[in-house]
Amino acid sequence: MPPSASQRVLSLRSSAIRDLLKVVEQPDVLSLAGGLPAPDAFPVARMREAADRVLGASHGLSSPLQYGPTEGVTPLRAWAAAQVGGVTTEQVVITTGSQQALDLLAHALCDPGDVALVEHPAYLGAIQALEAAGAVIEPVAADGDGIRVDALEARLRGPGPTPKVIYVAPNFQNPTGATLALDRRRALAELADRHGVVVIEDDPYRELRFRGEHLPAVRTFGENVVTLGSSSKVLAPGLRVGWLAAPAWLVGHVVKLKQARDLHTPSLSQWMAHDVLSDDAFLAGHRRTLAAVYAERCQGLVGALRDGLGERVRFAEPDGGMFVWAELPGVDTTALLAVAAANGVAFVPGAAFHLDGGGRETVRLSFATLRPEQFAEAVRRLDVSIGAGAPAAS
Ligand code: PMP
Repeated sequence: MPPSASQRVLSLRSSAIRDLLKVVEQPDVLSLAGGLPAPDAFPVARMREAADRVLGASHGLSSPLQYGPTEGVTPLRAWAAAQVGGVTTEQVVITTGSQQALDLLAHALCDPGDVALVEHPAYLGAIQALEAAGAVIEPVAADGDGIRVDALEARLRGPGPTPKVIYVAPNFQNPTGATLALDRRRALAELADRHGVVVIEDDPYRELRFRGEHLPAVRTFGENVVTLGSSSKVLAPGLRVGWLAAPAWLVGHVVKLKQARDLHTPSLSQWMAHDVLSDDAFLAGHRRTLAAVYAERCQGLVGALRDGLGERVRFAEPDGGMFVWAELPGVDTTALLAVAAANGVAFVPGAAFHLDGGGRETVRLSFATLRPEQFAEAVRRLDVSIGAGAPAAS
């Protein structure tokens, strides 16, 4: 008998996006596909300084080159607790990116067969994490103001099994760029409390707001919310430093799972992240730089779409983040991708984020990675590809 993999892993889907990125991320392709933060905004000099400082400092047992506590190094946990607000240091666990927080929470909260509700369309990494834990994913409709709490309430009051988890990304959502409206934040947290469901509030894009005011976190309105944060978009994703702030009863369960997964998030990354993030003056300036960089790129993409495609594209301008969610009426965007890749432009077809075969005429366009002067050419290539006759959606 040849050896075989587990049924669990055999039943998992690979991320369509990650598979696709392997094909389209060639140097001559202008990519609106990947959610890669602007590389020219990485704070390289400050990170080098941080590396020198933390390697030069004496941290005793908490040395950046030594094993560390599973929960994360205390100063970084304390920083994250202050950042999240209204939680203690003990409620924070440092994770290997917020992606690991999703995996830990999925396994800590869901037994195989349990229901997880997700805003729809949703971040694929969250769906993957929940599926890997054996959860049954049920989509809940969302619109330009985020998850539809009326649809959520109808589901929670209905006859179906009580879900264990509700997943949302409240700010500049991936893939739609939508921000959850204030009244919905409150309603979501209240519904979760009333029905005994945990909300996962996945918030890696909060720092990338370039317009309008920050809204209070969902967590501020209820007891059953876990808030996730990340250094990936504000510093650099290669650090793999994220955090979760959970109700006290959940923290120990998460830590037990994390012990088995990776003992702890790399100490060197944690100490470097702490060195940079706790430098208030630097961080304030860096946040302004990020806002300016992303605002300019967003305008670059939005302007190129209006100039290049006019009435043939519909979209709402996001207030931050990295994505414009666009509709190309009459175009099957999954079919379009092959033509577009041949023409040197890439995007993610909207269907990739849907669980029900929907979104066939939509695309997720990332403005984070290209430089402003490249958007007109990227949209020109997109236009040529549409003109080349990608079959119409049925
Ligand atoms: N959540 C969302 C909504 C994301 O878009 C991403 C990354 N693209 C992540 C979580 C994971 O980020 P990280 O693990 O780098 O913190």
